[in-house]
Amino acid sequence: MHMKYLDEYRDPDLAASLIRRIGDLSRKPVRLMEICGTHTVAIFRHGIRSVLPENIVLVSGPGCPVCVTAQIDIDRSIKLARTPDVIITTFGDLVRVPGSGSSLAREKAEGADVRAVYSTFDALNVARNNPDRKVVFLGIGFETTAPTIAAAIIAAREEGLKNFSVLSLHKLLPPAMEALLSGGETRIDGFICPGHVSVIIGTGAYEAVVREYGTPCVVVGFEPTDILDGLYRLIRLLENNEAKVEIQYGRVVQPEGNVKAVRLLQTVFEPAQAAWRGLGVIPDSGLKIRDAFSVHDAARTFDLEVPVPEDPKGCACSEVIRGVKTPLDCPFFASKCTPEEPVGPCMVSTEGTCAAYYKYRV
Ligand code: SF4
Repeated sequence: MHMKYLDEYRDPDLAASLIRRIGDLSRKPVRLMEICGTHTVAIFRHGIRSVLPENIVLVSGPGCPVCVTAQIDIDRSIKLARTPDVIITTFGDLVRVPGSGSSLAREKAEGADVRAVYSTFDALNVARNNPDRKVVFLGIGFETTAPTIAAAIIAAREEGLKNFSVLSLHKLLPPAMEALLSGGETRIDGFICPGHVSVIIGTGAYEAVVREYGTPCVVVGFEPTDILDGLYRLIRLLENNEAKVEIQYGRVVQPEGNVKAVRLLQTVFEPAQAAWRGLGVIPDSGLKIRDAFSVHDAARTFDLEVPVPEDPKGCACSEVIRGVKTPLDCPFFASKCTPEEPVGPCMVSTEGTCAAYYKYRV
């Protein structure tokens, strides 16, 4: 299917025809996971779940950066915020995630210097303007954001900005997909793969998932007809018993990805094990700052030892992230836990599954 203009991606006639075609084709009961939080929100916003046949179940996955940040990393960030002369810079949502007994927002209210920034280059500016302070950027996000953070670290080194460092909490999505499949806790028949991550990494990593587990993957855009077209392609693969990677989002994603961005990322980072909320420690699923850039690595320049924490009591975020539970299975949903007073990160982040369920009141 060839689609060109933005209006087309929202064209009701095209959407109706895709819905019809999905209905005509779909026979098997299937559970499809949208990995990424941006898809979760788009699926709810456009009411896509309600137009699918009952045998197609959509499950939300681990692709919300704030949600998968491990509790221990929230606590380490809070410890950093309490360190004298430190300015914490980060993307907004992370500030509100409850850690063990505090949050960055609470630390800020109590006098810590915690600043929300829109880009790493804003964080660099904070470092330039505060040469006597240590500016730490809390780096969260997947393959999409990591290259821009790599660029900021390179800029800091070139400029001799020694008071700028990054706590790299970045994560790579394909290892999490494999962890979900090998865990076998929830059935996933196909993956709706994130368009923006795939712009960077291409499709090679998904090929490995297909080879190893026989689970088809379709790289999908974020407009309503993109998602419907992606679902149609995934259903077609499943009905034909075909396991392969398809790119629905071909106007943006190339199979080889963005070689330049990957090179930038690899210059600064190397794969390392990472702790995920809900999924535990997964080998090679995180990005560690290479030795050559160690001055800019907050994990090496600060003491970040904290006691091993427990996840918030009663919060089912871990199960929600694994697709084992939905927010509706959580007794706190919309009662004790709301976007105004969130108990867990899945309600804090605008990309979180609980926040999406809450906003669109499924
Ligand atoms: Fe956690 Fe709140 Fe979601 Fe329940 S509704 S799983 S408490 S974030």
